Amino acid sequence: MPEMPEIQAHAERLTEQFSGRVLTGFTPFNFTALKTAVPPPSDAFGSPLVEVGRRGKYLLLRFEPVTFVVHLMQGGRLVPDEKRSAKPRGGQARFVFEPVERDDGSIDETALLLTEQGKERRAGVWCVPTDQLSTTAPLDKLGPEAATISDTELAELFAANSMRVHGFLRDQRMIAGIGRRLANEVCHRARVSPFANTRKLGADGAATVAASIRSCVDEGLTEERARADMSSSKDRPSAMHSRTGDPCPDCGDTVRAVVYSGYTVNYCPTCQTGGKVLADNTTSKFLK
Ligand SMILES: [Zn+2]
Repeated sequence: MPEMPEIQAHAERLTEQFSGRVLTGFTPFNFTALKTAVPPPSDAFGSPLVEVGRRGKYLLLRFEPVTFVVHLMQGGRLVPDEKRSAKPRGGQARFVFEPVERDDGSIDETALLLTEQGKERRAGVWCVPTDQLSTTAPLDKLGPEAATISDTELAELFAANSMRVHGFLRDQRMIAGIGRRLANEVCHRARVSPFANTRKLGADGAATVAASIRSCVDEGLTEERARADMSSSKDRPSAMHSRTGDPCPDCGDTVRAVVYSGYTVNYCPTCQTGGKVLADNTTSKFLK
């Protein structure tokens, strides 16, 4: 799933290409694509796109008076759509803009298409009043932004929420923008066990984790901004994530995994758990 760096860089590319374009239509291609009934998308028709912003892992297509909040989930993409075919493959929803003349005299009728590959239909669009974005679902429950979280902010959240740190990092209500890959990378960089308890990490632990969050996000952003389009997960750099069995780039120990149904926790025993190899629940899963 794309995380904060991928979404942020993509928002910036879309702003560059589409800001100022006047919205004339919004077409959902199936009944699950638009998650809200009020206000109607037509409230934005005739308005220029102010920018494509981001909050957590959501893209925000800002118009007045409404903003379209887009979540890509696992396999969703929001892509320029020159063809505008009647039934686009994997198409979930389309934003149509007033045609504009390019510098070379040709007409630009490029739309924006939300696509989702695979059978699951989970990507979606919420239409929300722009002046109520932070207090309206789906953005109202999000924690602070990963890129800018301070040491004290994280320390307070750690003290108030007794959780495994890996689970905390992936919980968007605690901190917004981190997913499975960054959670693995942040724990490794901070030299903490993914299963360490947040409350027990204390202020010093929180400061170390906060610094690791900021640097991992920064690196991801630099990498992603250098690209012409959003990376796929296999292109994203990692020391731990999806590296089961590989040597740790910092100490050479073997990267280990604890596998859950939806994700895998990767860690380095030498760097993170005092050499202890944690029980892999892969086998016990089959005994249930
Ligand atoms: Zn290591």
